[in-house]
Amino acid sequence: MSQAEEPPSARQVDPTERLDLLLRDLRSSRSGLSSREAARRLIHYGPNELRRRGGRRWPRELARQFTHPLALLLWVAAALAGTAGITTVAVAIVIVILINAAFAFAQEIQAERAVEALAAYLPVQARVLRDGRPQTIPASGLVPGDVLLLEEGERISADARLIDGGIEVDLSMLTGEAVPVFRSADAVDTQAPLLQARDLVFSGTMCTEGQARGVIFASGMRTELGRIAALSERVEREESPLERQVRKVAWLIAVIAVATGAAFIPVAALGAHLPLPDAVVFAVGLLVGNVPEGLLPVITLALALGVRDLVRRGAVVKRLSAVETLGSTSVICTDKTGTLTENRMRVTTVWTTAGTYDPENGGDAGDEALGDLTAVIAACNNVQRDDRGTLRGDPTEVAMLRAAELLAPAGHAGSRGTRLCQFHFDPVLKRMSTVDDRDGEVRVNTKGAPEAVLPLCGAVMEGGRTLPFSPERRRDVERVVDLQAGKGLRVLAVATRPLGARETTPRRREDVERDLTLLGLVAMHDPPRPEVAEAVAHCHAAGIRVIVVTGDHALTAAAIARQVGIVGDDPVVVSGEQLDRMSEDELDTLLREHREVVFARSSPEAKLRITDALRAEGHVVAMTGDGVNDAPALRRADIGVAMGRAGTDVAREAATMVLTDDNFATIVAAVRSGRQAYDNIRKFICYIFAHTTPEIVPLLVFALAGGAVPLPLTVLQLLAFDVGTETLPALALGREPAEPGLMRRPPRRRSENVIRVSMLLRAWLFLGVICAVLSMSGFFFVLLQAGWRPGAPTGPGSPLHHAYLQATTMTFFGMLTGQIGTAFAARTDRASLRSVGVLSNPLLLWGIAFELLLAAVLIYTPPFQALLGTAALTPGMLAFAAPFPLIVWGADEARRWLLRRHER
Ligand code: ADP
Ligand code: MG
Repeated sequence: MSQAEEPPSARQVDPTERLDLLLRDLRSSRSGLSSREAARRLIHYGPNELRRRGGRRWPRELARQFTHPLALLLWVAAALAGTAGITTVAVAIVIVILINAAFAFAQEIQAERAVEALAAYLPVQARVLRDGRPQTIPASGLVPGDVLLLEEGERISADARLIDGGIEVDLSMLTGEAVPVFRSADAVDTQAPLLQARDLVFSGTMCTEGQARGVIFASGMRTELGRIAALSERVEREESPLERQVRKVAWLIAVIAVATGAAFIPVAALGAHLPLPDAVVFAVGLLVGNVPEGLLPVITLALALGVRDLVRRGAVVKRLSAVETLGSTSVICTDKTGTLTENRMRVTTVWTTAGTYDPENGGDAGDEALGDLTAVIAACNNVQRDDRGTLRGDPTEVAMLRAAELLAPAGHAGSRGTRLCQFHFDPVLKRMSTVDDRDGEVRVNTKGAPEAVLPLCGAVMEGGRTLPFSPERRRDVERVVDLQAGKGLRVLAVATRPLGARETTPRRREDVERDLTLLGLVAMHDPPRPEVAEAVAHCHAAGIRVIVVTGDHALTAAAIARQVGIVGDDPVVVSGEQLDRMSEDELDTLLREHREVVFARSSPEAKLRITDALRAEGHVVAMTGDGVNDAPALRRADIGVAMGRAGTDVAREAATMVLTDDNFATIVAAVRSGRQAYDNIRKFICYIFAHTTPEIVPLLVFALAGGAVPLPLTVLQLLAFDVGTETLPALALGREPAEPGLMRRPPRRRSENVIRVSMLLRAWLFLGVICAVLSMSGFFFVLLQAGWRPGAPTGPGSPLHHAYLQATTMTFFGMLTGQIGTAFAARTDRASLRSVGVLSNPLLLWGIAFELLLAAVLIYTPPFQALLGTAALTPGMLAFAAPFPLIVWGADEARRWLLRRHER
C-alpha cells in the first residue's frame, strides 16, 4: 500500500542508473505493476498522450487571415478609397475583409478539427505486464513503472529502460536518421547522452526487429517526444500541390484584377468623363470584386470534408493532400491475403505420402508422418489462446493449428513442449522454424512455402520410415503443390529434424534449417472477399490498373486474381526469382507492355522496385503493405496503404492511408472519394470565376458608351454582390454528390492543373457572359420602360432618377439571379442536372435561400437603400428577372448535352 501513497515523481528518476535502483525508484519490479496500482498512477501522471499547448493558437491564426497577401491587397484598396475621400467605400471594403477573414477562419478551424479527429480512429495499443500477465491495453494507459513488452513491428509508446532482450529501433522520429540502431538490456553505458544510451528506447520510435521488455520511466509530455513536441509547439501544415496550384492562379488573377482596375481609370476618366476620384473608386471596386480571396480556405475545407468522408468509408488518411492524390491514382498494387481475401483461412487438405486428409473428417492414427506433422504445427507457431479458448494470431497459423488439433492422434495435440529458440517468419525467406524440447526430445520444427522448405529437405517420411528425397519423390510432391495451388489454395510444407542428444542448439538460422525431413503439405482456402470483384470492375472501368504483389505461390496468386476478375485467363505471373533477375529496363518494359501482371513469391524489396518502375512511367501508385519491411515501399508510393487490423505499427506509421477494414474495396471507395472531392473543388472554382464577367461588363458598358449610358451598377452594389453571393454556394458546391460517370473516366494525369483552360472559358465567356447580358438587359428594360433615351440625364433631381435607381438595382438583382443559375450549372461538369437530382444538395438550396433573403433586405429596407443606392423593384421587374436562373442553367444544360453527344 505504500506504493499508492506516494507515486514516484518522474523527475526524480535517473533512467541511466543501475537497473535495480531504477526499478526501486519507480516502485516497480520485473513483473510490472498491478492493475490497481497502474490505475492509481494513471490518475497521478495523467494519460500517456501528447497534448498541444492549446487555446492560445487561434489569435495568431485569425491574425493571419488579415495579413495574408491577398488580404493585404484589399487593405491597399481600402486605403486608396479612403484617400480618394469615399469613406463609405473604404468602410465597405474593410467589411468585406472582415467577412472574408471570418469565413476563412471558420473554415480552417473546421478543416483542422476534421484532421485532428482522425487520431481517434487510429488507436495505438501497447502490451504490458499487469498483475504478472501480458495484457494489451491502449497506449494512453501506460504509466511509469509499467513493464512494456516490445516486439517487431510495434510502435514504442513511452520512454523505457530495457530489462531484457534486444531490439532494433528506428529512431528517425526523434533523430531524423532512418538507419535502425540496436538497443539491448545488456548494453549499458552511463556516459552517453540520453538518446544514444544503448539500453533506452523512446516514445514515438519503432521496433523493427527482435523482442525485449523494458520498464517505463516517462510517459506523456514527460517523454523525449513530449519535450520536443512542447518545444516545436506544432508542425506547420504542409501545403498540398492543389493548394499551391490554386495559390498561383489566385495571384495571377489578382494581378489581372489590379491591371483591369488600373486600366479602367484612364478609360473612364477620359472616355466617359467620369471625375477622377469616381474613376479611382471604380477601379478599386473592380479590384476587390475580382481578387479571389475566398478560394483557398474553401479548398482547404473541401479537402478536409474529403478526409472526413474517407473515414466514414474505412480509410483514414494522414494529410489533406492525400485526398487529391487518391483522386488521380492510376495503379493500385495490392496484397492478396487479407486485402483481396477474407484472411479467414481454413485448411481443406493435409497431404502426407501415406494419404490425403480433410481435417473435418479426422486423421488416421496409423499414419506416423501425420502424427509428426501435427506435432510440428503445434510447436512451430505463435498462436495464443485467450481466456475464452479462442485462437489468436496469424490466420495462417491459426488455421494450421486448428487442423492439427482435429487431425492429431488422441493425446498428441496441445503438448507443444518447451521452445528453445525461434527463427520467426521472414517474408523474404518465407518460412519459420523453432527448436523445441518435447519430453527430452529436441527437434527442429519448420513450416513455410514449399519453395522455401523443400530445398532444405534431404529426406521424406514415408510410412514411418525416413527415405532419401529422390528427384522422383521431389517431383511427386511438387505435383501435389501445383495441383492445390492451382485451385487457389495456400500451400505450406511442414518438415522436421531431430537434434542429437549431444548436439547443442545451433545459434544460426542456416545451421538449424538444414537436412530436414519432409512430413507433408497443408493446403488452405482463403475465400475472396465478396465485394472485391465489383470493386475490381470499378477500377477497370475507371482506367485504374490493379497489380497483385503477394508472397504467395504463383498458381495460388493467379487463381485468386482470376477469381476476383483482376486478370483474365492468361496473366503474366512473375515470380520473385524472375523479378530479381530482371533489370530495371526489363521491368519497365514488362509493366508497360502487359496490363495483367501478378507478382508472386515476391519480397518486400520487390514492392519498392515495382513502385519505382511504375512511378517512372508517370503512374500515380497506391501500394498496400502490412509488414515492417513494407515501410520503404509504403513511403515511396504516392499513396502508401497500410492495414489497420493485420498491419504492424511500423507499416501504419509509414503509410499515407490506413484501412480500418483491410479491404481492397475500401481503397477503391477512397479513390472515388478523392475523385469526387477534386471534382467538387473544380465546381466551385468554376462558380467563383463565373461572377467576374458580370461584375466587369456594367463598368465596361458605362466606360465605352462615353457618357451616353449612366453607370449600371454602383461600387457598393458590386461589393455587396461579391461578398453576399460568393461564399455560401461555393461551400455548398464543395459537398456535391458524386457525378455519374465519375468512375468511368480515366484517371487524371499527375501533371494536370486543377484549373483548366476549358473551365475558365466556361466560367468567363459562357456562364459569365450570359449572366452579364441578362443583368444588362434588366438594366435597360427598366430604364427604357421609364422613357429613358441614350444621353438623357439620370442624376439626382432629374425626373428619371428613381427609375435609374431601380435600374441599377435591377443590374444587381439580375447578376444575383444569374449566379443562381450558374450555381446549378456548375453542379455538374458533363452530366445532366437531372442525373444528379435537382434537389440533391440541400446545402446549396439553403445557400440560395439565404442569398435571396439578403437581396430582399438590401433592396427593400430603407437603410440599405440609402447605403447602396438601391430602390424597391416592382413585381413586373421581379417577373422580368425571374427566368434568369433558368436561362443561365438551361443554356449550360444544352451545352453539356451537346458535349456529351459529341463525345459519344
Ligand atoms: P501474402 O502476400 O499472401 O500475405 P506472406 O508474405 O504473408 O504472403 O507469405 C508468403 C508465404 O510465406 C506464404 O505463401 C506461406 O507459404 C508462407 N508463410 C506465411 N505465413 C507463414 C508462417 N506464419 N509461417 C511459415 N510460413 C508462412
Ligand atoms: Mg501475409
